[in-house]
Amino acid sequence: MTSDVNIRGIGMTSQRTRTRLVDRLREQGIQSEQILTAISETPRHAFIDEALSHRAYEDTALPIGFNQTISRPYVVARMTEALLADGPLENVLEVGTGSGYQTAILASLVDKVYTVERISGLATRARERLNAVGYRNITFKHADGGMGWPERGPFDAIIVTASPRVIPEALIEQLAVGGRMLVPVGEARSQDLVMVRKHEDDIEQSVLEEVKFVPLLGGKG
Ligand code: SAH
Repeated sequence: MTSDVNIRGIGMTSQRTRTRLVDRLREQGIQSEQILTAISETPRHAFIDEALSHRAYEDTALPIGFNQTISRPYVVARMTEALLADGPLENVLEVGTGSGYQTAILASLVDKVYTVERISGLATRARERLNAVGYRNITFKHADGGMGWPERGPFDAIIVTASPRVIPEALIEQLAVGGRMLVPVGEARSQDLVMVRKHEDDIEQSVLEEVKFVPLLGGKG
């Protein structure tokens, strides 16, 4: 464990504040007990700086440096619930590791997570934190995730946690037939959370709700 990794359950990081968060997610319509359990058991405070850890179990996005944010728990829960709605998943590609919190939730629910982050400092920190908490089924890459991870695909599911203006073709290609992708598509101010489902001979798209993510940028940071 490295010195900046904060995994102790103290003060506002206690089980009581986590239970309050889960109650709030339930009120907002999250129904999957396995996802609510994963949220209650995952130490969100370990994925943000110690100075903000008293706010870790608020249902809000928080800064993680490099102009990026850890996603709001409701959005993490909603996206994960939609990804898992058809049953268990073997391999999932996440584009936009960020803090590693969404990665942790996925890793506790699926067999294998492949996660890609374009900012080196975030990629390194997320890897250290996830290793410290004890996840062993995550493979990391520092790269432009808009290109996917062709060597590891096709994927049962893809989750994109930064927003492109249009869905990158490479990601659609790397989705397995029968698979699903969740991606926030649109302009900077607001985006549609789109679910893409790949069938034998067509691609189906539906909009789940309006969301606000940081932009998906090209190249490495
Ligand atoms: N799920 C993360 C969200 C972090 S914000 C969390 O809850 O912490 C989105 C992340 O996507 C940022 O870390 C940003 O650097 C990253 N990102 C943006 N464009 C990217 C790209 N093309 N490839 C990989 N990561 C990207």
